[in-house]
Formats: sequence, structure tokens, C-alpha cells
Amino acid sequence: MKGQGAVLGLLLLAAPAWGAPPPLPVVTTSTDLKALVEAVGGDRVRVESLASALQDPHAVDIKPGQLARLRAAALLVRIGLDHEPWLPGILRTIGDARFAPGSPHHLDASRGIALLQAETPRVTAERGVHVHGFGNTHYWLDPANARPITASVLEALDRLAPGERARFEASRDRFLAGLDAALGRWEQALAPYRGTRVAVVHETWPYFARRFGLVVTAALEPTPGVPPSPAYLATLTRRMRDGGVRLLLVEPYANASLVGQVAARSGARPVTLVPSVGGDPAATDYVALFELNVRRLVEALAAGR
Ligand SMILES: [Zn+2]
Repeated sequence: MKGQGAVLGLLLLAAPAWGAPPPLPVVTTSTDLKALVEAVGGDRVRVESLASALQDPHAVDIKPGQLARLRAAALLVRIGLDHEPWLPGILRTIGDARFAPGSPHHLDASRGIALLQAETPRVTAERGVHVHGFGNTHYWLDPANARPITASVLEALDRLAPGERARFEASRDRFLAGLDAALGRWEQALAPYRGTRVAVVHETWPYFARRFGLVVTAALEPTPGVPPSPAYLATLTRRMRDGGVRLLLVEPYANASLVGQVAARSGARPVTLVPSVGGDPAATDYVALFELNVRRLVEALAAGR
């Protein structure tokens, strides 16, 4: 009888509360979008991210189980542009017209974002690996961009769950109020270091750098997604040293031997920043992600004084 009770308990836990509609199944391409959809949707959404937080977001392998969850989703939320070169093939495999661009079930979160590096002519025929062809796609790393992203999420959820707009608006307002307060603290913490010259591995950080007053003067990838040649690296590390570049911003999935080599030759101190929610145990949500990155930067800059 005890076993039966446990089974019944599990069934009760799995069932939605009486009267409450089941949560909307949402699939996002990143953990950051997942966190932002949850900030608006609360317990009215059940969200899964296709990419894990520790993967290069431009190169993601999808497992069959994830395809099944995408098929069952009411909404797909993506970064857009050419951020997810792996997504069109998946959408072709699924072959569901609901997820066609422009459908209410397909939200491209880049609409409404003022893109950086959009003027750089990078779409070329001869390069196989190629990203950021239409502008830099790492726009979620400016906390201020959470406002337009969650505005798009609110509209998408409102279309799919009519009658619940007030609830979504209240959740979003609460989230943005907390974020605004935190942003003020982060800007204050980094204010003494405005103008610090930094190098990056991949162009992950232009939005973050602009918000917090860092100046990105070098990228180890000559073109986003393209590894550097030895000759390119030799010139770059010499220029970093001559140009007083203090920090090298490193993603957790960056090539460690390349980072070590560049740090040794340029004198820049490598600091690992986490580009996505869940990329470190401390980065539990969108606000915690910036909390962690700002703390790591302040520690690295204070140590180098
Ligand atoms: Zn990128």
C-alpha cells in the first residue's frame, strides 16, 4: 500500500492544479533566453534550452530527445540573425510550419535590438565557418537589452495565452525593477575602471563592454568563428603588449592552450567570464550571471593595479 501511495503522490505532483491550465511548453536556443522567458512567464511556462550554457552557441549538436521537445513546443525563442547556424537544418528536419519565421510560434528575439558591428561587411562566399554576418549576435550581454527581449517575449506569450497579459506584465515589471537596481550597482562597481583596454577570444563581449566602459581593442579570432594563424597571433600579441591591453576576456569553452600562449606573450591577464546563465554554478539566473561577471572583472582589475 505504501508503494501505491507513492505512485499516487507522483501522479498528483505531475498533474496541474485543478482549474489551472497546463504550462506552455517553450523551447529556446539558449539558457539566457530560457531565463528571460521564465522571468516573464513564471510558472505559466515550462522552458527548455537547446544549447547548454557551456557550449559554443554557434556550434551546437542537438539530441533526438530535444527534437521531440521542440516538436511538442508551443513557442520557439531564438537569438536570430546567424547566431544559430545549426537551427535551420533542425527546423527542416522537423518540417512544422508553425515554426516558420514570422509565425506566432517562432520568436526572433533580435527584433527590437540595436545591433553592434552591423556595418562590418562580413558575409563572404569563400568562408565556410562564419558568424556575425549581419551584426554582433551576443546582445543579451547588455543587461539593458533584457528590456526589449522581454517585451518581445511578453507579446509572444500574450498571443499564445490570451487573458493572462496582466500576470505576464506584472512578472516582467518585477524582474526589470530588480535588474535596474542591480545594473546601477554593477555600473558603480566598474566605474573606476572605465576605459580599460581588453582583448577577447571571440567577439562575445561588445555589448557588455559598451555598457560597462571597457574598450575591446583586439580579438584573437581574425573573423568571428575563424581560429588565428601563428603569424596573426604573433602580430596581435605584440600589439596587445605595446597597446597596454590589461585583460583577456575568455569564455569557459575557449581554447585553453591558445589563451595561455596569448597571455604569456602579451602580458594580458586572462579572466574567464561566463556568457550564459548556468555556465557557472553561481550564474543561476540572468541577474546572477552579471553579478558573477562583474565580480570577476573587479577582482581581476583590482589585482592588476
Ligand atoms: Zn559569436
